[in-house]
Amino acid sequence: MGRYDGRVVVVTGAAQGIGFGCATRFAEEGASVAILDLDEANAAAAAAKLPVSTGSTGKVAHVGVGCDVSDGAAVDAAVARVVDELGGIHVLVNNAGITRDNLLFKMTEDDWDLVMNVHLRGAFLMTKAAQKHFVEQKYGKILNLSSVSALGNRGQANYSAAKMGVQGLTRTLGIELGPFGINANAIAPGFIATEMTDATAARLKMDVEEFRQLNAEANPVKRVGFPEDIAAAAAFLCSDEASYITGQTLYVDGGAKLG
Ligand code: NAD
Repeated sequence: MGRYDGRVVVVTGAAQGIGFGCATRFAEEGASVAILDLDEANAAAAAAKLPVSTGSTGKVAHVGVGCDVSDGAAVDAAVARVVDELGGIHVLVNNAGITRDNLLFKMTEDDWDLVMNVHLRGAFLMTKAAQKHFVEQKYGKILNLSSVSALGNRGQANYSAAKMGVQGLTRTLGIELGPFGINANAIAPGFIATEMTDATAARLKMDVEEFRQLNAEANPVKRVGFPEDIAAAAAFLCSDEASYITGQTLYVDGGAKLG
């Protein structure tokens, strides 16, 4: 019997990277998973790759849904579709993210708005749509993706502000939703090897392996992180074993910011 038997888990931005790693872990533990991402075909292809377990509630189904999390109407339609097709919603992982890095004096208004809209407005809209169901059933788990960059990072004024904003949002959700049986927490990853960090290497004109090695040397455990590292923490924080934990941000970064 898996920890997530009978649960429906929605992961945004899960066609690849950390989101797909989390979706895979929840599916392995018995959940029905909805993968939300910008392109429906990519989301559906990722959902088709998820393991299908046979838990106490029978065979589970997964679904891929095209949805821009910064678009309120698209978010409401996507959540309604998940509830209809998978029979409910119990866990929401707000993972969708983008970077538009630049030093402040070169950062455009579009760079700022786009990053704020996907990370903050996206998490706000998704959470608002999901909480209606969570409050009604007096049960729900929300997990938001922050970042070590929340503590400040050269070239990421927009992303740092959004990721620290995510931590404030998480604390407030913890306060407001706790009385309704809902937990809200955040994970702040350090360097995780994904398409996002590969794209950063390309932008810095560095070889991907060289860039990973450089980042591995920058933390006490001397390796980079992988989506599975975040997925393991996510599976704990969204489980009933973590029901006395809310409003918290867990740094999963190999100790990168310890000093
Ligand atoms: P990624 O670029 O590999 O994947 C991000 C996914 O989000 C993509 O599939 C993309 O299509 C989707 N997406 C982007 N905009 C969207 C939108 N408006 N609506 C729906 N989906 C959208 O990134 P990743 O490295 O897997 O990062 C996942 C999350 O973790 C992000 O929030 C990121 O900021 C955070 N994070 C990543 C790292 C890292 O080192 N990789 C570190 C700290 C935090």
